Amino acid sequence: MNLSRREWFRGLSAAGIAAVAAPAAHAREAKTVHPEDVGMLYDSTRCVGCRACTTRCKEVNGLPLDVVKTDGVAYNAPEDLSASNKSILKLYKNGETEAFVKRQCMHCADPACVSVCMAGALHKTQNGIVAYNKNVCVGCRYCQIACAFDVPKFTWNEPLPLIVKCEMCRHRPEGPACCEACPRGAMTTGTMAGLTEEAHRRIGNDPDKYDPKIYGEHDGGGLHVLYLTSKAVSFENLGLPDVPEQPIPQTSETVQHTLYKGFVAPAALFGLFTFAQYFNERRRQAAEDAQRENKS
Ligand code: SF4
Ligand code: SF4
Ligand code: SF4
Repeated sequence: MNLSRREWFRGLSAAGIAAVAAPAAHAREAKTVHPEDVGMLYDSTRCVGCRACTTRCKEVNGLPLDVVKTDGVAYNAPEDLSASNKSILKLYKNGETEAFVKRQCMHCADPACVSVCMAGALHKTQNGIVAYNKNVCVGCRYCQIACAFDVPKFTWNEPLPLIVKCEMCRHRPEGPACCEACPRGAMTTGTMAGLTEEAHRRIGNDPDKYDPKIYGEHDGGGLHVLYLTSKAVSFENLGLPDVPEQPIPQTSETVQHTLYKGFVAPAALFGLFTFAQYFNERRRQAAEDAQRENKS
């Protein structure tokens, strides 16, 4: 690489000017839930916290138990989503009021994790599942930063760490094992059209019990996991974040495409910034060397 510092800064400036001068791109269409997509419905009012769902999840996904010993007795006591937990059951308690909530990947209709995954390791399947291909993952963890639900986890203890998250049991012809295991019908699976209809039916049949909102129907641009709660416990109490209805990737990709349009491919710009970082590091080292020489 024989380019001078001046030439590299000139290149960076040209890229910056072109980015600002590029014509605005049209906002891209939001990706939406299709009625025939698969999904899951969790009804907090039916859940008794037995954890049959999360235990079965571990079994079918070959995940180790989280063993905790108390007074010499060993328990499986997972604390949160982690490299060994694709799903977790949590308890909300406030005085006499309590409710359980099951968490796993929400399988967003327009997933931020897919939007930022430069390797294409996270991708949407035809039936709406957000799937992961470990063979092409580069371990950048951008997906972890992008996810509003704090879902993707990283296998830090592996020599080549990978991402762990629910893939709606796509390896099982029978579908989601958690739904199969639930003895209360609190966790069910089906098409998105069927699940949405069922959620509305339950609310309509018992309007005094249920919060009228179905979390996930519109939140985050639509999710493939829908939630119901009682009027006594809000979705916020259950730890479900208040996300905008417009999916974040729709905005971020529109801005990105506006920046890139007509002047340079993202990879080229990435290379340019990488070199700039390398160049700055060399410069910093040279300054440190000069300082050391001055002292000696
Ligand atoms: S919940 Fe997070 S990990 Fe799951 S699809 Fe949405 S953005 Fe991706
Ligand atoms: S769909 Fe499968 S991987 Fe996802 S939470 Fe249920 S059992 Fe676990
Ligand atoms: S199996 Fe059903 S009732 Fe038991 S904790 Fe899971 S969702 Fe709740």
